[in-house]
Amino acid sequence: MTSEDFDVVIIGAGPAGTVAGSLLAEAGWRVLALEKSHFPRFSIGESLLPQSMVYLEQAGLTDSLHAHAKQLGFQYKDGAAFSKNGNYTDFNFSQKFTPGPGTTYQVKRAAFDNLLADEAQKKGLTIRFGHQVNQIELIDEKQYLHVTSDTEEYQVSARFLLDASGFGRVLPRLLKLDRPSSQPTRNAIFTHIKDNITDPHFDRNKILISVHPQHEDIWYWLIPFSDGTCSLGVVGLHEQIEGNSPPLARLQAFVAESDNLQPLLENAQWQQDAKMIGGYSVSVSSLHGKGYALLGNAGEFLDPVFSSGVTIALHSASLIAPLVHRILQGETVDLEQEYAIPLKQGIDCFRTFVNAWYTGEFQTVIFSSAPQSNNVRDMISSILAGYAWDTKNPYVAQSERRFRVLHTLCKEPL
Ligand code: FAD
Repeated sequence: MTSEDFDVVIIGAGPAGTVAGSLLAEAGWRVLALEKSHFPRFSIGESLLPQSMVYLEQAGLTDSLHAHAKQLGFQYKDGAAFSKNGNYTDFNFSQKFTPGPGTTYQVKRAAFDNLLADEAQKKGLTIRFGHQVNQIELIDEKQYLHVTSDTEEYQVSARFLLDASGFGRVLPRLLKLDRPSSQPTRNAIFTHIKDNITDPHFDRNKILISVHPQHEDIWYWLIPFSDGTCSLGVVGLHEQIEGNSPPLARLQAFVAESDNLQPLLENAQWQQDAKMIGGYSVSVSSLHGKGYALLGNAGEFLDPVFSSGVTIALHSASLIAPLVHRILQGETVDLEQEYAIPLKQGIDCFRTFVNAWYTGEFQTVIFSSAPQSNNVRDMISSILAGYAWDTKNPYVAQSERRFRVLHTLCKEPL
């Protein structure tokens, strides 16, 4: 079997793969991304956080994003809104503790990922669509990958391998790195609708997270796009979401139970079907090993509630690229100290907030009428905007302890 040599091979051309690939290709390395799908392809994960704009900017990908946003139906996004039992609160991401962009987009991922892939190729990243990685083997300091496509079967070798395969989780499966997540098994049902929302108070510039009126651990997302459509989903424990009826009928039944979504979406036109996925929260024993590292969802995925997935994926790409550059130049790099520990800092901060969401404690804090200083709200806003690695923010540096104190101060019946 023939074998081609690359400096870096990346498994997957989602956001993590294309951003890491752009940065490394621009640094002059021969980089190949192997992507099993043909783009554009659907992906869930449509609400970005402003922090992600920093990484897209670093990789030189924002000019094209801004230029094509309108035409592709991407919605300008400036915050997040929450609704529970008739209470409403929102966070404007321009009012936040950490400096940096306060706005971003809600994107249709098929078009967004396609745009990033196009731009990354212009920067020198080679992407082969429809090429799936099936096996890897480490021989003499090089990673050998076995690849299949519709027409061929071949081997490539890499001096360094990045797994950005998302829920494909290629290296965790092949190297048995999978570990149970800290989260229980939850399911999501989702679809796109033509929303026909006429309520003048509805803010299309924000993701709307609504809590189920009876079950505070069931929640809905409503992510508006600029073309009059929305992404709509419901999330809950596997046993709460699963049922005998088809996913679309389940989702419609959940919306009918929601005090705020039901009236908001009364004129909505629904698609013919909805998708259901479950058990998406995953973790690994290590984010790196000899000659490889895991990016984005291939490493850890917590939960969709705070839309942190793409931001974590892009942060991992932006962290790893300069480290791989140094490794390829012959330097010894401690990936635990310089990659895994710093990446986990932000993931652990999100984990504190995700856990507190499902216990209802985060909801208590944001809907509390107890006085909160603007400073504290700005610190929370920063994290919701994705700035979960800014250790100057006490809710990042000591997220668990700080959140406990805040919750105690806000505790009161709704
Ligand atoms: P992906 O985007 O999944 O890309 C991985 C790529 O690898 C894919 O294109 C795949 O085809 C390819 N691949 C897989 N296996 C192979 C193989 N063997 N060979 C070659 N290629 C392969 N995140 C947000 O930021 N905002 C949200 O609003 C949000 N909502 C979500 C809602 C739900 C219900 C879920 C489950 C997740 C949500 N996420 C959200 C998370 C988001 O989907 C992911 O975090 C994000 O897509 C991860 O990007 P990535 O680049 O790591 O992987």
